Amino acid sequence: MEITEKAPAKLNLCLDTPFRHPNGSFEWEMVMTAIDLADYVHIETMSDDDRITVKTDSGFLPCDQRNLTYQAAKKIKSHFGIETGLKISIKKNIPVAAGMGGGSADAAAVLRALNKLWKLGLSSKELAQFGLSIDSDVPFCVYSQTALVTGQGEIVTPLRELPTMWFVIAKPPASVSTPFILKQINYDNLEHLNVAQLVSGIKDQDFKLITSNMQNVLEPISAARYPEITRIKHKMLQFGTSAALMSGTGPTVYGVCQNYSRAARVYNSLRGFCEEVYLVKSITLKGSNVHTIK
Ligand code: ATP
Repeated sequence: MEITEKAPAKLNLCLDTPFRHPNGSFEWEMVMTAIDLADYVHIETMSDDDRITVKTDSGFLPCDQRNLTYQAAKKIKSHFGIETGLKISIKKNIPVAAGMGGGSADAAAVLRALNKLWKLGLSSKELAQFGLSIDSDVPFCVYSQTALVTGQGEIVTPLRELPTMWFVIAKPPASVSTPFILKQINYDNLEHLNVAQLVSGIKDQDFKLITSNMQNVLEPISAARYPEITRIKHKMLQFGTSAALMSGTGPTVYGVCQNYSRAARVYNSLRGFCEEVYLVKSITLKGSNVHTIK
């Protein structure tokens, strides 16, 4: 048996951390969306071998138990006591260590794929619970649709689809270590966000309310180490995007435009400043059995 699952990247429309739990984990308040820049995860079952093997077309990724797809497959196999082996192949399109949740997207794709392949009957909420112990972004990636994400990443509340908007994404050459950035958070210096306003903007399909409430509290921390983030952000605003923001812990920065022609102009202008630039829309992964808050 084999299956191919699409694994879309995510962008943070806003990111805040209200506090840190006594056990050291972070409390999150984020609005995220899935975009049409995706990896593809192919899984083949092997009845004569119990092992999980991972291969990818990217030279930058570990292919052993450190790969998040391996961890996702191992969790499902162990929990259900399934002895079938798996060959996982990842077609990598999402930049690595970029703040776009590539590893989490791949792990979530494995959870969804094995749920279908082995007819496990798990709901998105249950798959998200499996994903949480792999990375805090995996629960969102199980859903891969615009959502409010709270708790330690496990409370995913799907929202309406975004109104028409285009994302121009620039990935500077640096790779950012998420643990390194998270270690530098000082709660005394954080200016918390009005996430409810952004959620209202999405509910009311109000482009201006959305773009005026997009913010990431980690941006000053990452930008202090990677000045390229601020440089690209300013270029995006100068070229005419309605908002520009760092995603996750960076270094990816994206700008938002309401219409395609402006987005295409920004995209072309930015290619003179940054090698890796993408022009994409937000997507909703089909087949999520979830209730959407309208
Ligand atoms: P996060 O913010 O969750 O750390 P990110 O988008 O910044 O995510 P990823 O591309 O997910 O970064 O990579 C983070 C780390 O995860 C890298 O060090 C990478 O080696 C590791 N990793 C493990 N499996 C994968 C995978 N399938 N795809 C990408 N990275 C993976």
